[in-house]
Amino acid sequence: MLTQAAEDYLKSIYKLQEKGGKVSTGNLAEYLDVKPSSATGMIKKLKTMKLVSHERYQGVTLTDAGKTIALEIIRHHRLLELYLFKALGVPWDGVHEEAEKLEHVISEDMEARMDAFLGYPTEDPHGSPIPDKNGVVLKAPSVQMTDLNNGQSCVVAEVSDDDSALLRHLGSFSLYPGTAFRVIEVAPFEGPFTIDIAGQQVVIGREVAKHIFVNNIEETDNV
Ligand SMILES: [Zn+2]
Repeated sequence: MLTQAAEDYLKSIYKLQEKGGKVSTGNLAEYLDVKPSSATGMIKKLKTMKLVSHERYQGVTLTDAGKTIALEIIRHHRLLELYLFKALGVPWDGVHEEAEKLEHVISEDMEARMDAFLGYPTEDPHGSPIPDKNGVVLKAPSVQMTDLNNGQSCVVAEVSDDDSALLRHLGSFSLYPGTAFRVIEVAPFEGPFTIDIAGQQVVIGREVAKHIFVNNIEETDNV
């Protein structure tokens, strides 16, 4: 049995690897908000358990066994988020925090029942892919909203799930996965985005736009 902390490390390494680039003990400590010495200690333990490898120039990487556990926890997390959202009516900015705790304790039976109840879903309420029970993740390609230009229309694919204030902000504009919008203007010098959502003009700051991923991008005539 792994501790919850160990599971959180494996999950975090997976997520940092997914973002691309090398995972160092330093950025892992920063991501998990722990002291670098704690991260170093945990990495040593996980290495002994053959769940991670740690090479000087490659940083920390998951072994196949480590990746299997990380995906299992992420599957729990995302199924729980969707279950809390759909079955219990927990708002989309509140599900992440609950799922962070429950992801470590639910049984395989509970996981299978939630999966069936929800109709074998492939995405959580924030648009993140739910790994299937074999750990297969199907992720449709998307781009960061900050890459959009004037006149482009698109559909929200995914938003960051772990900042409830940000999610409330996005929710106030109905910027949920599946929502279509069009870029009216990108202000120069790294300025904000003015967008049109169902006929309503909304200004989205660049810091916020970094947390929004979109697809189905099309050029439109800017009127
Ligand atoms: Zn979450």
